[in-house]
Amino acid sequence: MSEPVNVVVEENAVADSVRSIERSVTRGYFVASSDAMILVAEVKRLRAREAAILKLHTTFPIYQECGHDGDCPTESFEVDGEFHTCEEGFMYFICSECCVVNDYQHEDCAGGHDHGKDKPRCGTFALLTNPQGDTK
Ligand SMILES: [Zn+2]
Ligand SMILES: [Zn+2]
Ligand SMILES: [Zn+2]
Repeated sequence: MSEPVNVVVEENAVADSVRSIERSVTRGYFVASSDAMILVAEVKRLRAREAAILKLHTTFPIYQECGHDGDCPTESFEVDGEFHTCEEGFMYFICSECCVVNDYQHEDCAGGHDHGKDKPRCGTFALLTNPQGDTK
C-alpha cells in the first residue's frame, strides 16, 4: 500500500479555488461535477464555522497599573474597580471565552494559563489560526 499523500494547501489557495469554481459555474462555462460542488459547500460550511468560533474566542485585554500617577498621556480608565491605567498599561490579550467570567479574568486563567504579549490568546485560537493545522 502506498503512503497517503500529505497535501499541504495554503489557506488563500483554497479560498481562490472555491471562488474560481463558483465564478465559472455562475458564468456557465464550466460544469462542475456534483463532487466539486459538494466540496465547495463543505469548505464554505467549515470556514463559516471557523469564523464563528474565532468570533467567540475574541480578545480580552489585561492591563497593569501604568504608573503615570494620574498624569497619563492618553485617556485613563478604571480596571476591575481597583486601579486606573491607560493604554500604556496594556500587558496582553486573554480569551474572552476561555479566560473570562462575568467580565473578570478567571482564576484558572490567572493561575494556570501561559499568556504573554507574543502568545496566542488561547489554545482554540492557536489551533484555528495555525496554517498547518498542527496540534503540537
Ligand atoms: Zn497612564
Ligand atoms: Zn478561547
Ligand atoms: Zn487564560
